Amino acid sequence: LGGSISRALQQMSNATIIDEKVLNDCLNEITRALLQSDVQFKLVRDMQSNIKKIVNLDDLAAGHNKRKIIQQAIFTELCKMLDPGKPSFTPKKSKPSVVMFVGLQGSGKTTTCTKYAFYHQKKGWKPALVCADTFRAGAFDQLKQNATKAKIPFYGSYMESDPVKIAVEGVERFKKENCDLIIVDTSGRHKQEAALFEEMRQVSEATKPDLVIFVMDSSIGQAAFDQAQAFKQSVAVGAVIVTKMDGHAKGGGALSAVAATKSPVIFIGTGEHMDEFETFDVKPFVSRLLGMGDLSGFMDKIQEVVPMDQQPELLQKLSEGNFTMRIMYEQFQNLLKMGPINQVFSMLPGFSSELMPKGREKESQAKIKRYMTMMDSMTNEELDSTNPKLMNDSRMMRIARGAGRQLREVIEMFEEYKRLAKIWSKMKGLKIPKKGDMSAL
Ligand code: GDP
Ligand code: MG
Repeated sequence: LGGSISRALQQMSNATIIDEKVLNDCLNEITRALLQSDVQFKLVRDMQSNIKKIVNLDDLAAGHNKRKIIQQAIFTELCKMLDPGKPSFTPKKSKPSVVMFVGLQGSGKTTTCTKYAFYHQKKGWKPALVCADTFRAGAFDQLKQNATKAKIPFYGSYMESDPVKIAVEGVERFKKENCDLIIVDTSGRHKQEAALFEEMRQVSEATKPDLVIFVMDSSIGQAAFDQAQAFKQSVAVGAVIVTKMDGHAKGGGALSAVAATKSPVIFIGTGEHMDEFETFDVKPFVSRLLGMGDLSGFMDKIQEVVPMDQQPELLQKLSEGNFTMRIMYEQFQNLLKMGPINQVFSMLPGFSSELMPKGREKESQAKIKRYMTMMDSMTNEELDSTNPKLMNDSRMMRIARGAGRQLREVIEMFEEYKRLAKIWSKMKGLKIPKKGDMSAL
């Protein structure tokens, strides 16, 4: 999705005159991209007609920054689509709240329940977890394990098969124990069955949750709207959490989930670990959807951390779209100098999670140093080449020998290079802002 949208905007920014045809071409491209990303057709059509209304061609003709106006309009529309107009219920510490999680099996409910509890616990809440999934063998063990790790009280049973009974017992017990956030995990089974929705309705009726959270896997694509709507029809879904945002999916389905439930996304899951959980912010999410990464943040960052005298040159090279091995080498040097936290790379999607995953900074540094040793065995021609075909087997073998490394390590480094080059190619055509002027973006 991101790729084609940025391409569409790119094409548009290359066109010198923006007339109706260019605008339509651009919108069609974006429409196609959004549809491919499984955003519901109706939503896409609405967005398209809204943009046509907003973007006044006469304004464009009057010499305003065209690209910026249209980009801004698309951005604003997508942001609006993610805003249902009213905030979700937010638990208050002063009064115990019951929060029920629903979603299909595998969507990440149990994991997200614990993350949600842990998040609040860190902020001084007294959360508790109730396992009302009696369908899946091992469901209670999983919750128990998670809860124990986070030192959060939990309730469940190996014997009882009635989810309503367990949910009610658990909620009552934790109310007595003065827990202020009682989280009810439920079953998801594996497909949308009438029995599942009936069960959700019953658990909800019996526990009277203050908030029902629909958990959605970011990669479910086309199914998002129907799935969210089906849950909304049986229980009063009031918020959405999108999981597995650390994967490849850009989460276009979130737009559908918001539309179907008329509820906001409140958090996103960004990994399997307890603390890989972030509050949802519309703007960075839409940037990602549009394949813009956090470009303006990136530009700020690059100005902050790349030595001033190197900036114009680096930006110039990037704007030419030539991400060579030498640039990678220089960036690795910067990265090691800056330390893992302040990394420029992390500002671009895919970098922090893949090149330098959280918690594994030491290993990543060692890996980067290893790559640099191998690059030290490369010729200038190889370092400055933008021809991917140049690096044949015999060259790779020579590099491996020269660096005292295995061939497969050299191959791995090239794979990494190709991956980075692909991401950095988005910088092609980048308008290089003058210092202090970010508005060009
Ligand atoms: P449930 O069936 O809805 O309760 O789903 P689970 O909580 O058991 O999660 C299913 C799988 O997805 C597990 O392997 C989780 O570790 C994984 N998972 C959940 N959330 C995330 C996430 O945000 N990122 C990643 N990478 N994996 C996740
Ligand atoms: Mg579960």
